[in-house]
Amino acid sequence: MSYTKIICGKLYDGIRDEIQGRKEILVEDKKILEVGDHTAEPAGCRVIDLSALTVTPGMIDAHVHASYFDWHEIPKDTVYYSDGMRALAAAECARKALAGGFTTIRHVGWFREDYSLDVKRAIEAGFIQGARMVVAPHFLCSPGSHGDPSQSVASNPVLSRFMENQYPTMGSGAEFFRDAVRHEVKIGADFIKIMATGGFFTPNDSPEDKQLSDDEMQAIIDTAHSLHRTVTAHAYTGELITTLANMGIDGIEHASLADQKTIRLLEEKDIYVVPTLCPYDEIVLLDEEKLAQKSPEFQKKLRHYREQLVESRRLLFESNLRFGYGTDLVVNYQNYECGREYSAWLRNGISPYRALRAATAENARILGLSDEIGTIEPGKLADIAGWGRDLLTDDLALLDCAFVMKEGVEYPHACVLDHYR
Ligand SMILES: [Zn+2]
Repeated sequence: MSYTKIICGKLYDGIRDEIQGRKEILVEDKKILEVGDHTAEPAGCRVIDLSALTVTPGMIDAHVHASYFDWHEIPKDTVYYSDGMRALAAAECARKALAGGFTTIRHVGWFREDYSLDVKRAIEAGFIQGARMVVAPHFLCSPGSHGDPSQSVASNPVLSRFMENQYPTMGSGAEFFRDAVRHEVKIGADFIKIMATGGFFTPNDSPEDKQLSDDEMQAIIDTAHSLHRTVTAHAYTGELITTLANMGIDGIEHASLADQKTIRLLEEKDIYVVPTLCPYDEIVLLDEEKLAQKSPEFQKKLRHYREQLVESRRLLFESNLRFGYGTDLVVNYQNYECGREYSAWLRNGISPYRALRAATAENARILGLSDEIGTIEPGKLADIAGWGRDLLTDDLALLDCAFVMKEGVEYPHACVLDHYR
């Protein structure tokens, strides 16, 4: 047995909406043994003094696309990068996310093969260092959809068709998707991600496009549930989200154009929403400098939907919905800058406790890991982060990590702002 005592200047435990004063956490090997004003100090116990910091559970980001090094490179990804390059990028993203205090990331798939399951396994085996990964290796989608990487070469039909055929979970028909879910689960998918509507980032579709048919979506949800996997959907409009809710979907990513009636239905059915404010924040807050970094098509779509994005965001945050915390960094910031979403929540006037709860206990529940992570209490894994800035007032607080431990092991920590701003 090895013991570590962590002295916390302040503590947010993921259980109470409260920052408590000085506390101690006693860690035995991988797990938290005791939390209190004065914990036991077994012989040989190492003491880590974090009395200058606010200590929290290791943060969790529920919407990460790990498989690229730099968002500027995404347009090249379609044709220039090998699968191996993507795997390296996923490993690097997991390493940097961990250094930033995010001990778990949920990888919601990528356009192409990225061996994200291998990266996850290599981290679990201790071969490489990184955040714990919960993985949907490939998102399920139809040709020409938001999930179709060959959209970018659509003007070359032969190349585009060739690329379509390389992608294992892109196709049409209920039978195809039943099979795709079974294969994903066979190779180790922790959950299933579907692209139900078009997007903002992809050039040739609209967020209002319905890109999977009812029988395809129902086949995916039923097959996944029969194999004890949850399904989450990239979806924007009220109409489609309502359809998915009535089909038994477990979660919705974005929901950025949802109406009041749809939000009530999601509350009733206890379906979680990961609102991913980051990709739409520049248009909502009218940050022209950041908007200018996006492609002309992306900007045009954002401007077109601005009013509705603002209104839906207001409705979402006035609701009692169960929110997950997910960043979905596609443009403007890098995929490991998981603290950016905290900044967005605070700048949009959302209570820091709501954001902290989403990024800890609620995300643990969404990932099916609430028995293991998300709170600081005896029996949980010792996933612990420390922060030098004031979590309640400083919107950059989660970008400036001052301590990180995963399963009782301390890792190098980093301030994302120092290196990458
Ligand atoms: Zn996404």
